[in-house]
Parts: sequence; structure tokens; C-alpha cells
Amino acid sequence: MRTGGDLELFHLTKRYGDTVAVRDLNHLIAPGTYVCLLGPSGCGKSSTLRMIAGHESVSEGAILLDKADISKLPPARRGTAMMFQSYALFPHLSVRDNVAFSLKMKGVAKAERHARVDELLELVDMSRYAARRPDQLSGGQQQRVALARALITQPKVLLLDEPLSALDPFLRIRMRAELKRLQRELGITFIHVTHGQDEALALADEVIVMNNAVIEQAGDPREVFNSPRTEFVARFLGGHNVIRRGARAFAVRSDRIVLRRGGGTEFDAAVCGIEYQGATVHLALKTPADEELSVVLPDRDFFSQPLEIGDTAGVAWAEEDVHVLAN
Ligand code: ADP
Repeated sequence: MRTGGDLELFHLTKRYGDTVAVRDLNHLIAPGTYVCLLGPSGCGKSSTLRMIAGHESVSEGAILLDKADISKLPPARRGTAMMFQSYALFPHLSVRDNVAFSLKMKGVAKAERHARVDELLELVDMSRYAARRPDQLSGGQQQRVALARALITQPKVLLLDEPLSALDPFLRIRMRAELKRLQRELGITFIHVTHGQDEALALADEVIVMNNAVIEQAGDPREVFNSPRTEFVARFLGGHNVIRRGARAFAVRSDRIVLRRGGGTEFDAAVCGIEYQGATVHLALKTPADEELSVVLPDRDFFSQPLEIGDTAGVAWAEEDVHVLAN
């Protein structure tokens, strides 16, 4: 198993004219970590990834891989490789030649090139399609070729820009499992940009939540989900209610709210929406102060005493489920 190096972002800043796309990021990523960079459109994820890859210049600060500053090196000499959203395969080349391309450019001898290509195609389970052209492959297969092509350079860090967004929902979940398996097998760092919180929670060893050009919170996915530090993180990850009491704001997970039929708890709220989701039922409620609450109940709990739109329910939670938010 190969291992990746430490990747350090040091006062990393990106400006485009007057726009600050990335503001003073300081973060250390341990070798062999699956990192998801998560945040809404425009928060600076792709700019961060492109600076690491060398496809975008660094305005201020540095990127260190194994303590060496790589921020001025050309992309091919950084020890990183990028897999693009569009896969960017050469349409006129076979799968084999697409994967071999960068080795050919480097002047690697044919026999060695073929051996490495075969190994990579095996790894992504595409050996039997080696002679096909990209337009003779499905979206998922094209993605595997793009992965093999990025991995052939033996990067310490693989950068993936929204790698699953072009796939249908079924394939997306399958490829998600494959990315995770590959990362584990290779033991290198993956940095995967996504705006999907479920994707980030499913894949990441470390989630880095970005907002407005800065890191809002970073950590183990369970820790970030269970203890969001700010209102933004609680809302963006979803599955939480942000509740204000005076100057205090706190988050309570939607599945930790308890409803008592008929009211009579801390406060009452009116049911204004009910969505059946299979294993769970999602309810929307309005408080007398016109706050909206979301509540997730296991289907059995809901259907043992169903509520209807317009019903009043008492809302309660345990003190240990309250997370006070900074800001
Ligand atoms: P994300 O990947 O999170 O959607 P980006 O890194 O693409 O965010 O963009 C961050 C900010 O930088 C946005 O305000 C975007 O409009 C701006 N931006 C990105 N690329 C360029 C560019 N080439 N020129 C000018 N502004 C850009």
C-alpha cells in the first residue's frame, strides 16, 4: 500500500480582482485521509482544489506536501492528480491510450507503460474495455477510466471535483462505494469537492465545511453533524432545527425532537406538512412565534398515533440534545 504525504494549506488565499474566493485557509490534512470539501456554490471549494492541483495560481500563502512548498510547481510535478467533473477524456483515443497518455508524454517505455495501464485498468475493473473509445462507454465506465488516468501518475493526493454529479442517483451511490474502496486500497489522500452533505458524510474521514471563502468547521463527519459549531453548519448539513431564545441560538437534531399528541410540553406547534419517506416520516411544524421546525419520526412511531395537518403537538427535547451555536 502506498501512503500519501501530509498536505498543509498555509495562509492560502485566492483573489480574482476584487473577489476573495479563498481567504487565509490554514489546515493540515493527514496522509491517507478521505477529505470532503463541502459547501454551497461559490464558497471557494473549486478554487481551493485548483490551487492544490496547480491549475490556478496562489495569490498568497502556500501549499506544502510532505513539508515541501509545491505552490509554484507545474501540475505534473506536484505529486497530485486531478479528476475533472467532465472526466475530460480524449474522444479519439482508446481507453488504454487515454490511461497511458501521461506516461507516454513522460517518455516511459512501452512495456512498462502497458504493464502500469493493465494494473490500473484491473484496479478500476475496466480491463475488458481497454480497446473501446470513450463514446462506447457508459457514464460510470468513463468515470472509471478518468480515475485510472489520474491514478497512473502515482499521486500522493488525488483531487476530485464533483466527481459524482454527472451520474444518475443509483450509479452515484454505487460509484461512491467504489471511490471509498479505491481510496482505502491505495492508502493515498483523496480530496473530493461536493455540495452534497449526504455524499460528504458517507465518504469522508474528515469533512471540511466551507462558507464565504473560509473554513467554517472541519472534523470527523459524526462530530461535525452532531455538534455543528455555527448556524450555517447546522443548516447546511441539514437534519437540524436552529432555535432562537433571546440572544441564544441552539441546534436540535430533527430526529431528537419528541412530539406529544395534544400538546402540553415546553411549547405547542401546529403540523403544516407531512412527508412519507419509507423508513421515516418528515413533519414540518409552525410554532406560535412562527418558527419552522422539522421533525423526523420512525414510520412505526408516526403511524401508531398518526398526526394530520392542522393538529397541534407538544414539542420537547432532552437537554443533552441541545447544541449551543457560536456566532
Ligand atoms: P465553489 O467551487 O465553492 O462553487 P469557486 O471556487 O468556484 O466556488 O468560486 C469562489 C468565488 O470565486 C465565487 O465568487 C466565484 O464567482 C469566484 N470565481 C471563481 N472562479 C473565478 C474566475 N476564474 N474569475 C473570477 N471569479 C471567479
